[in-house]
Amino acid sequence: MKHQRSTAQWREMDAAHHLHPFTDTASLNEQGVRMITHADGIYLWDSEGNKILDGMAGLWCVNIGYGRKDLPEVAKRQMEELAYYNTFFKTSHPAVVELSHLLAEVAPKGFDHVFYTNSGSESVDTMIRMVRRYWDVKGKPEKKTLIGRWNGYHGSTIGGASLGGMSYMHEQGDLPIPGIVHVQQPWHYKYGKGMSADEFGKLAASWVEDKILEVGADKVAAFVGEPIQGAGGVIIPPATYWPEVERICRKYDILLVADEVICGFGRTGHWFGHQQFGFTPDIFTTAKGLSSGYMPIGAVFVNNEVAATLAAGGDFNHGFTYSGHPVAAAVAHANVKALRDEGIVAAVHEDTGPYMQKRWREAFSRFEHVDDVRGVGLIQAFTLVKDKASQTLFDNWGEIGLMCRDIFFKHGLIMRACGDHIVSAPPLIISKDQIDELIATAVKCMEIFEQQLKERGLA
Ligand code: PMP
Repeated sequence: MKHQRSTAQWREMDAAHHLHPFTDTASLNEQGVRMITHADGIYLWDSEGNKILDGMAGLWCVNIGYGRKDLPEVAKRQMEELAYYNTFFKTSHPAVVELSHLLAEVAPKGFDHVFYTNSGSESVDTMIRMVRRYWDVKGKPEKKTLIGRWNGYHGSTIGGASLGGMSYMHEQGDLPIPGIVHVQQPWHYKYGKGMSADEFGKLAASWVEDKILEVGADKVAAFVGEPIQGAGGVIIPPATYWPEVERICRKYDILLVADEVICGFGRTGHWFGHQQFGFTPDIFTTAKGLSSGYMPIGAVFVNNEVAATLAAGGDFNHGFTYSGHPVAAAVAHANVKALRDEGIVAAVHEDTGPYMQKRWREAFSRFEHVDDVRGVGLIQAFTLVKDKASQTLFDNWGEIGLMCRDIFFKHGLIMRACGDHIVSAPPLIISKDQIDELIATAVKCMEIFEQQLKERGLA
């Protein structure tokens, strides 16, 4: 596309009119934004012509990669045929019906129903209303409390931000709302020193049981967690964690919800993250990879028992103008079909995922200030540490992470710092050669980073 304006003009206009998410506006405007103008495969280009390897798939969402030619064709056709109609008043349309049918095929057995939203946050808020409605219909309206986890991320709406465990979000706007409580995250490195992974997984799960007993099982509606905490820094729980959490939820008759907004649609090499960890939720929330970011759309999957219960309750007074938007649904359908029929999810499971994990561990474990090198499928991370032998983290959590991230950016590689966790989640179509390229660039950046730590007397 030919652009009429210069980078400087865009920066000026952006600073004048655009409020960015999760951003210190004053300092951004002083610096000026980076303008991304186009993308293809796993690469982005900025307005200065720099080529950037996107090791984050946008915001963990462009699973199918940038620049597909078929998805815009589908969108165009759908817009011409039926750009919009709602699904509220006894109506439906082919795009949303086709998508629902396909999603029931790729979902695990017993998940034959979905409710549509426009984002991960809306999926989470929908889920909160659903679980409370579920217990109403069951005749247990006092079961209202949801248990989330510290450092979990479930979105930015009032419900999602409350359920998430980011204290810097809670601080702005009197969150969490009532009826939402948190337990500690299953971060072995920090909270399970000296314990085996299996032992720690069970301990972390027991915190869920403790909280249920503290609140009273008759008041708890659901436990909600990301199979892998994404924005919290790719915290991968030990293998014993999820099966034990599942057992506890069943014991106390509490709904188990997996927030699959990041893990869903192939990220771990399975269609959904809970399949990686061997547990079965009652409800799971999705967005991101559902359309690979080509259109905004999310979906809440409910098992057949939850669906039947909600149906038995008559009207569920919830929905969005754009629930099941035809263009978003058509694009999501084409995306999910391609993820399946082109073997993209299967390749992550069998080929590129294991290759990435092997290369990632080989490449980064040797660094003096890197520890807990981890990952599964195409989601991976390591933690920057002050001292490896004593497993000591840096002071001022996050400061060193940003310093490291800026070095990656400068060298044309997007990886993210979540505190001092350095994380990566590239498009699922990344090839082995491109994995080598990502890792070679990251290794070079890490050498510069460790050099800078020494020069600045930080380590
Ligand atoms: N849940 C999880 C697990 C997420 O990672 C995110 C976004 N990163 C959300 C919910 C919120 O999604 P959105 O930004 O689309 O509202």
